[in-house]
Amino acid sequence: MVGGVNSPVRAFNSVGGNPLFIDRAEGIHIYDADGNEYIDCVGSYGPMILGHAHPKVNEAVKAAIDKSYTYGASTEVEVEMAEMVKEAFPHLDKVRFVNSGTEAVISSIRLARAYTGKNKIIKFAGCYHGHSDNLLVAAGSGLATLGIPGSKGVPESAVRDTLIAKFNDIESVKLLIDEFPDEIAGIFIEPVAGNMGVVVPDKSFMQELRSLTKEKGIALVIDEVMTGFRQKFGGAQDYFGVEADITCMGKVIGGGMPVGAYGGKSAIMDMVSPLGGVYQAGTLSGSPIAMACGLATLNELKKHDYDRADQIGKRIKAALEKSAEKHGYTITVNQFGLMVNPFFTDQKVVDFETAQSSDTEMFAKFFWAAAENGLYLPPSQFEAWFMPIVLTDEEINLIEERIEKAFQAMK
Ligand SMILES: *Cc1c(COP(=O)(O)O)cnc(C)c1O
Repeated sequence: MVGGVNSPVRAFNSVGGNPLFIDRAEGIHIYDADGNEYIDCVGSYGPMILGHAHPKVNEAVKAAIDKSYTYGASTEVEVEMAEMVKEAFPHLDKVRFVNSGTEAVISSIRLARAYTGKNKIIKFAGCYHGHSDNLLVAAGSGLATLGIPGSKGVPESAVRDTLIAKFNDIESVKLLIDEFPDEIAGIFIEPVAGNMGVVVPDKSFMQELRSLTKEKGIALVIDEVMTGFRQKFGGAQDYFGVEADITCMGKVIGGGMPVGAYGGKSAIMDMVSPLGGVYQAGTLSGSPIAMACGLATLNELKKHDYDRADQIGKRIKAALEKSAEKHGYTITVNQFGLMVNPFFTDQKVVDFETAQSSDTEMFAKFFWAAAENGLYLPPSQFEAWFMPIVLTDEEINLIEERIEKAFQAMK
């Protein structure tokens, strides 16, 4: 395998050392191939919100498998999943299931362009929307407007129509709209950024973004692949009091199986094939096994009190702050529901620039100290921690103890 992995972050390049090989996991505990136990704060980068191998989810998946895997035809479980999405995101009229977050976003770009009849799209520096050509654009610091390819192999033509704005900065969006009036099809945003560490924008920023896009006839595409079902049973859109034109989902919605989704009002979604002229298809889309896994996960999640999610996040944040201070480290901890992220910086982290002020070497030291003390963390300063919603008070105490030991061991 290339670099020993099938997704680059797993190679541990930003923390060095040997990447973990995982053998199995159960509940909040994950075990590497050498038999070491860790508490899992990665959650497979988002999906495993219920912890691992949840009995109800296992049961549903096993029952689905016994019927066979895929038929290339519609099944009842897809309808149930669509109804579940509607329950969680009431302003969506229609949904289309795909196989990944990347795929949901790619389809949304096409749809936004078709719907508005325009071509340019705006994304925000530091936001990640999967690995499609159009959005693989780095935050070229000196080049606030014109996209520079962030990956080799992405032709300039693919990012010529991609404009970069500053997260949490409505003026940067207005400038782009003024520069290209009547050319912008869609604005793509993570409502809470989770791919530059966790960054929660001001409520007013999201609200202004909504009114601005409405006024200018631009589709607002809210990428909830990470935030969906994380802070409430639904989306972060609720927290900000905004409704997207197109909503993208992934991660939790599949419960650990490959599922993505995009949805919106009928006026937009009816443009998708077979009702409309926007082609989008998938041999395994709506896989009955993946749908069964997602549906069982969402059914379980629905029973959870999301106030608890916020309490869990806040307790982890407090534990990090307390132990860091005790041992003389300066950190800034951002948190949104179950998403937590300690930045090794003394600055307030409000965007990509301030996130980058972090001492990544210090983070790497902390990462390994944590691993040696039984905490499996994302191996990068800029990946969010995803805490499971099932944590008991005793388990949170145990995490606090391990955080304390990790800071102690950094010396
Ligand atoms: C993970 C992620 C994606 C991509 O999803 P994949 O399933 O990895 O393709 C897209 N958008 C956001 C916000 C994500 O966090």
